[in-house]
Amino acid sequence: MIMEKEPISRADIAQVTGLNKGTVSSMVNELLEEDLIYESGPGESSGGRRPVLLHFNKVAGYAIGIDIGVNYILSVLTDLKGNILIEKNQLIQDSNFSVVKELVIAGICTLLKEMPKSRYGAVGVGLGVAGIVDKEGMVLLAPNLGWKYVTLKSGIEEVFKLPVIIENEANAGAYGEKQSGAGQDHENIIYISAGIGIGVGIILNGELYQGNNGYSGELGHMIIEVNGRPCSCGSRGCWEMYASEHTLLKLTNNPQATLESLIQLAEENDKETLELFEEIGCYLGYGINNIINTFNPQQVIIGNRLAKAKKWLEKPIRRTIENHTLSFHQNEMEVRFSALSIYSSALGVAAFAVEHFIKDIVIN
Ligand SMILES: [Zn+2]
Repeated sequence: MIMEKEPISRADIAQVTGLNKGTVSSMVNELLEEDLIYESGPGESSGGRRPVLLHFNKVAGYAIGIDIGVNYILSVLTDLKGNILIEKNQLIQDSNFSVVKELVIAGICTLLKEMPKSRYGAVGVGLGVAGIVDKEGMVLLAPNLGWKYVTLKSGIEEVFKLPVIIENEANAGAYGEKQSGAGQDHENIIYISAGIGIGVGIILNGELYQGNNGYSGELGHMIIEVNGRPCSCGSRGCWEMYASEHTLLKLTNNPQATLESLIQLAEENDKETLELFEEIGCYLGYGINNIINTFNPQQVIIGNRLAKAKKWLEKPIRRTIENHTLSFHQNEMEVRFSALSIYSSALGVAAFAVEHFIKDIVIN
């Protein structure tokens, strides 16, 4: 409550939570001793004695969030409220597991070296990976990275002796947007991570929906064309073969093309590039249509790399939804682009690490 509503008085905490004042007071004393909160004041009075206010001590420690994309690694150091202090970007040239693992370790080392001093130091590491992660943290399959059954989590834990949390990058992105981005005011959110592949993070009733084994959200592999283009998952006609960054680049027939170079061409009104974005936008819209009809969300957030091309993707996406999605489902439903841009996933896993740390302290 203090993290969410700070600054707040002891009396207000008692009132909102329904806990008695004695309980609140002893819990607050513990948190003060742990340096997780601090006092200031006195605050505004509504008549009587002016109350002392409690604040969350967001610099009691720091969290590390790492987004392992298909062609990049983005590492951030955040305070306990998810503000980014330091960020590092590395390109992945060779997606071989041991190479990427070394890059991740190197990234963590640099962040730890530059981390300010604090009571708890680094509280944990969150890893977001573009693949299927089981509940024990094993990456079962990351088709775009070429990984099968890799144990990244335990490897990193051994090196740094820190708690490590690993999560699918779309799930992490959904959580990041819910915590500190475009989704803060909504409880039923679909986050579309549109990068080299496509992943979907599902927030239902305010919580990340992970499925029975943690594998939910592989909607990049929903089939939108019968007998369509072959996909790296072994199937055909998958959504990401029509609407991803990978497909956008492939359709240019230019091995040198990058998303950034295409955005540049679109800015110059290059006709072919504009048509490509139009096609990708339409296909994004078709997939989103299927998802909206399934989940009836309040909000759809489009994030990850393709969100950079919002200027050209937004219209065809909206048009396709308007023309195809059941009209009941369009009521009170908003489509937005990510507020955290490329940081959704890294901030999401950092937030998981913080949540884990706070729960751990409160329980012990
Ligand atoms: Zn597929």
